[in-house]
Order: sequence, then C-alpha cells, then structure tokens
Amino acid sequence: MEYISTRGKVSGVGFIDAILMGLADDGGLLVPARIPQVSADTLKQWQELSYQELALEIFTLYIGEEIPREELRQLVDDSYSTFRDADVTPVRKLHEGLDVMELFHGPTFAFKDVALQFLGNLYSYVARKTGSTIHIVGATSGDTGASAIEGVRGKEGIRICILHPHGKVSKVQELQMTTVDDANVLNLAIDGTFDDGQRIIKELFADVQFKHRYHLRAINSINIARILAQTVYYFYAYLQLARRGQAAAVSFSVPTGNFGDIFAGYLAKRMGLPVNRLILATNENNILAHFVSEGVYQPGEFRGTYSPSMDIQVASNFERYLFYLYGEDASSVTELMEQFKQNGTITIPQEKLAVVQSDFSAHAVLNQECLDTIAHYHKENGYLLDPHTACGVAAADRLASESGATVALSTAHPAKFDESIRLVGIEQPFPSQISGLFEQSQHVELSPASNEAIAARLVKFFE
Ligand SMILES: *Cc1c(COP(=O)(O)O)cnc(C)c1O
Repeated sequence: MEYISTRGKVSGVGFIDAILMGLADDGGLLVPARIPQVSADTLKQWQELSYQELALEIFTLYIGEEIPREELRQLVDDSYSTFRDADVTPVRKLHEGLDVMELFHGPTFAFKDVALQFLGNLYSYVARKTGSTIHIVGATSGDTGASAIEGVRGKEGIRICILHPHGKVSKVQELQMTTVDDANVLNLAIDGTFDDGQRIIKELFADVQFKHRYHLRAINSINIARILAQTVYYFYAYLQLARRGQAAAVSFSVPTGNFGDIFAGYLAKRMGLPVNRLILATNENNILAHFVSEGVYQPGEFRGTYSPSMDIQVASNFERYLFYLYGEDASSVTELMEQFKQNGTITIPQEKLAVVQSDFSAHAVLNQECLDTIAHYHKENGYLLDPHTACGVAAADRLASESGATVALSTAHPAKFDESIRLVGIEQPFPSQISGLFEQSQHVELSPASNEAIAARLVKFFE
C-alpha cells in the first residue's frame, strides 16, 4: 500500500516511511492511496476472529508485504498483551439500543493505548531493523502523552519529549506522565493550552530541515498508524454485536477532540463496514459540532470543561476528512487550508454540507449535561461513565431516534478524571495501578510556550 498527501505534493510513500514522516513534507496529512475494501463475505469470515487476529487482517490491508506477516503478528500480539481484558475492547450493554465499547483496558486507562502500544512497538521495530534513531515529540491534552510515554519508555534507540499544558491536565494524567523516570523520556509542562503545544509541534515538523536533522517523529493522531489502529475496534464492535445476532448496521457515538477517533470510524465505513450514523460528540469546545450543523469550521475561544482531553479548538485530523469530502481533490484541500491559515475559518457550500450531514450527526454537550449524564447512568444503570464517555453517551441518547442500535465509545476509565466524578458526588475506588502513582516522585520541567524555547530544549535533549 502506498500513501499520499492530502495536499498532493507527496505520493508513493510506503507504510513505514508514512509512519516516520508523520506530517507530510508538503504540510498535508498522509492517507492511503486508495481505501481497501472489505466485502460482506470477508466480514462474515472475520466473525470469529480474536481482536489480535482481526487487527492482523486489517493492518495487512494497509501494510501489504512491507512487514512480513509473522513479524506483524508478533507486533500485534505484543501490543495487545498489555491489555487487562481478554477481548481488548469489550462491548457492554448499557440499555436497550445502546452499548458502550470499553477502550480503556490498556496500561494508561484511556483509548489512546490501543494505537500507541502498537505505534511504540512499531517504532522500536523500525529502530531495530534500520539502526535508525527515533526522536518522538508530541503535544498532549493529557492522554496521548501518558500513553505514548508508556509505549516507548526504556526502549532502545528511541527518545521521547511530550509537551502538556501546565495545570490543564487531570492529576492522574499528570502523574502518569511525570512519574516515569526513564532517561529516554522528557516531560515539558508548557505555559499555555493544548492548542499552543500542538501548534508548536506542527511548526517544528513543518521546518523540514530541523525535522530531518533531529529525526523527529510524530505520535499525534496526524500519524496515520494511529488512525489505522483505531479502525480495528469499529470492526470488532460490529462483529461482537453480530455474534449476538444483531447484524444490521450499527451507529457509533464518538467523543471527539482532534477528529482522529471519529475519522477512524469514517474510514471503517468507507472500507465497507455497515455503519449507520457516526455521531460526533463534543464538549463545550463545539467547533466540530458547529461545522456539522452550519458548514462553518471556525476555532474560537478555548473553554475548560470536565472532559479536558477534548478541550481542543483546532482539530488536526479534520483535513483528512476534507480530502474525502472534496472527492480526494488535493488542490481543493490546499486552497481550503490556505484560506484557513489566512482567515482562521473554512466555510463549505450547501451541497457539501448536505454530504457532511449524511456522514455525521453531532451534538455539543454542555458541562452540566455531562455531569447529569454521569449521575443518571450511575444511579439508573450502576455504570460509572468517565466525563468524555458521558459526552458520547449523552449525544447518543439525544440522537437515539435517528440512529438505531448504537455503540458509544468509552474513551477513558473514570479514575483518570476523578476531579469531575467528585463534582457529581460519587466516590470511586481507584485501580491499584492508579492509586500507586500518588506516592511516586515527578520528573518534569516548566517551559514557556514558544517555538524557540522548545526547540532549544529539544536540541539539548537529543544531542
Ligand atoms: C483523545 C481523547 C478523546 C478525543 O479523541 P480524538 O481522536 O482527539 O477526537 C476523547 N476522549 C479521551 C478520553 C481522549 O483521551
């Protein structure tokens, strides 16, 4: 399989080079040259596969011969053996018509582990195979950082630096990142928001000379490996429901920030998975919900909410969707992104909006609605939702009449966001892996949110 850029100036890139490139060298995002198709017959054959076997089949469609099958199998098995549930991403019934898919059984208790355990092993594989140096830099709203660090800590040939917004991540997220004291890990707490961190990383990567000189590699969801790893569980959810005799199309409700996870769902649908509606759930940072209702994409003022991993204004994966919305026409995408750079807004015409609305439904969940949803499901169903999952569940309930059987993606374990859970008046037990963090010492440096400061610190770390 070859990969191409959404801006049209990079093509013919193999899978491993696509992973290493992260952001395409023309400033676009990499996508597969064509989307592999999965027939109804193939889906039937996949029915009894374990998560790992299914992942192997789907990755093979996107990787081809580049990684020999037995080596790929090993990578997949290593990546998912760290999960605490035999099903990796089990689906549980909440009430008639609504299931949750628990994506938080990995080492850091958030769904990011599904992709980053794999990507960490993949980087390690590439470092071993090619003897190359891997320097990972990334920005996090909390979960990606913890998960990426966990994916590569202590691994030979890899160093990782993660920027997180100082004071704007949950206590558990902070501890998961900063209690790691492996020498190949550097935590920088920046004086700014996640969007500042993401912009700095994007600009460092856009400086192709700097990027090549220091072998910078991405772990943010601009990295296509993350998207591909996440398509697997959409298929797995469908197959789990089909096993119960529920084989019609399924809707998915996805708590969204960077448009990564929901784009993986969109890709699964384009591959041929019978998906009914894709429900895009945001918190009060409602740029994407607004886009679905009005056709205007316009980041505005940052809002702190109870679901901090979705406190994002500029959705880095949105460009991938634009590419497909515009019929894989790179020049339209380039023009739109140019406009966005100049005016800070993208407006699409009516006929495109109609397409968007046939792809997605959307709902922006207000802070109080998020807490009410947590309280309601705790009381009525004895199930404790984390605040991100609660956004997805609230949106699913809101849109139930148009979506039929729905799977809400549960993106984190509630213990990661105890600050929000306490506001509902609920006391939860912590898993021992999390309670143990509170006794450990932290390793973190404060930094201004400027390109120069970050670049200078990176050079020191990498040399
Ligand atoms: C990252 C994250 C999200 C948002 O996922 P995107 O791929 O950025 O849309 C939602 N919930 C949790 C818990 C997360 O960590």
